[in-house]
Amino acid sequence: MGGNDPHIHVEAKVVHADAAVRNLMASTFGLVGDLPSLVATGCGLRVPYAMTSPRPDRVTCLACREHARREHLRFAEEAERLSRMPGSTLSPEQGRLAADRHRALARRFSPDTES
Ligand SMILES: [Zn+2]
Repeated sequence: MGGNDPHIHVEAKVVHADAAVRNLMASTFGLVGDLPSLVATGCGLRVPYAMTSPRPDRVTCLACREHARREHLRFAEEAERLSRMPGSTLSPEQGRLAADRHRALARRFSPDTES
């Protein structure tokens, strides 16, 4: 560990890393000043939050790209599964849209489709 890692990683919880969730947590628990300065990454490191990004065009750590691809595919399946359950708050159409969105993100994290 050189302590000078130039890579951009993804957070381990990449699917839930969006700002809306963060803001909700902060306003609910009043933790604005206490957000952790280090976050767990998809490749098992702990890095400053500024060294992470949920965006496929920013992430340069290969292990993290693979992690993000898997997480988005997993979430896509989960969304479809939940939307088909009786009494689900998610309609099948919403489930399909969410799944499509996360599958598209997964494709953009895939090393095979660089273009
Ligand atoms: Zn990483």
